[in-house]
Amino acid sequence: MHYTCPSCGAINRIPADKQQQQGQCGRCQHDLFDGHPVELDEHSFQRFIDKNDLPVVVDFWASWCGPCKMMAPIFTQVCGQLQHQLRFAKVNTETAQQLGARLGIRSIPTLILYYRGQEIDRLAGALPAPQFQQWLQQGLSKIARNG
Ligand SMILES: [Zn+2]
Repeated sequence: MHYTCPSCGAINRIPADKQQQQGQCGRCQHDLFDGHPVELDEHSFQRFIDKNDLPVVVDFWASWCGPCKMMAPIFTQVCGQLQHQLRFAKVNTETAQQLGARLGIRSIPTLILYYRGQEIDRLAGALPAPQFQQWLQQGLSKIARNG
């Protein structure tokens, strides 16, 4: 299974059946499962979306957005719980304006679930942790159904 390092972006190969274990990046030794979302920018975004074998959920946010501030700790909390099933990433739409425009993001926060480079589902607005988890589980079963 391919798993990009949250720190340096190197693509690590890890055995799929050892997902529950700890892993370190082969290049920078960073803990691959550190329980925190990865910050992506215009340059790192596409590679991260394309090169991970786990589904990726991205939080598009901005510093001036109140609901984004509410969503941030929920996103990190759920990341800690589901980090072996999904990758969690964040994009600051103030610094990645072109990316936000290209993806047609009109309101923030917007959450987008990707699998192997393809958008599976998208949701606009902050939501409590249980509903966020429910939305992710729905996305995961959609991915499982479509292979
Ligand atoms: Zn690394």
